[in-house]
Order: sequence, then C-alpha cells, then structure tokens
Amino acid sequence: MSKIQDAFKGEIQYELYRIAIQVRDCHWISTPRGDQGHEWCPSCGRAKVRNMRRRDRRHRRDYHLDGGWRTDHDSFPVCRGCGAFLNGYLTKCGAREEIEGFRERGISTRAEIDALILNEIIDGLPNDETDDDVRLALKIANEILREHANANQALLPESAP
Ligand SMILES: [Zn+2]
Repeated sequence: MSKIQDAFKGEIQYELYRIAIQVRDCHWISTPRGDQGHEWCPSCGRAKVRNMRRRDRRHRRDYHLDGGWRTDHDSFPVCRGCGAFLNGYLTKCGAREEIEGFRERGISTRAEIDALILNEIIDGLPNDETDDDVRLALKIANEILREHANANQALLPESAP
C-alpha cells in the first residue's frame, strides 16, 4: 500500500478549505422518546425545541438541544429546518457514498459546496493513493480548484498597463 504524500494532500485540503462554504454547528434534539435522528443548525434547533416544549408542557424539561460538536455521519449533515451545511465528519462508508455522488454527477456549479463536501470525503477515506475512491477524490479536488481559479480570473478587470 502506498501512502499519499501528506504535504500534497494537506495542500489540496488547505486550498479546498479556503474556498469552502461556512458550516454551522451540528445539533440534535433529545426528547422524552430519545433522539429523533435529525440534525439541526443552532437557530432552527432552538426554535424546534421551543415548539416541542410548547406542545408537550408536561414534559417540557425533557426536550433539549444537544450536540454542537463534530461527530460521525453516514452522509453529509444538513439542517433539517433550513438546509444549511453542518459541521461533521464522514464515516468511511459515508465518504465512499458521497464520492459515488461525484462519480455519477461530476462537479456542480457551486465550488464552495463541492469543496466543503470533498474535504470531508478526503478526511473520511483511507490514506492510500491506490484506493480508487481516493484517486477520484483528489482528481475532483484538482478540478474544483482549477474551475474556481478560472472563474475568479474571468471576473477580474483587465489589468491596467
Ligand atoms: Zn437551520
């Protein structure tokens, strides 16, 4: 097994990080019946807890906004309320699933979203450049960075003499 040169991978991940869309903290809600398995951003989560407490006043103390830290996910976490991208790790399975999406669809027109998801994919996959998914992830990362650079170049005014 060949290990990916860490400096090379680190550089790609740093460049992806620089253009990636901001994420919000990932929360979930504890209820008297346990956790419902949905993820929420802080504002939607707080609103949802208030709403649940109002509807079940007798057990209002048993509804809490939990989480707020990075945890493992089998698919990229988004807020159930507003669709915001949330802060979390992808499991190895989740990373393989998400790269499959790129394999089928290619990159999107939103480099900042692709960069965010791809960075977590690269973190979630094994550190092995002979792995097909890893090779594809690095190839797509380069494509995103190149597209992003080209798009920004095109928006720059003609340089004055
Ligand atoms: Zn939200």
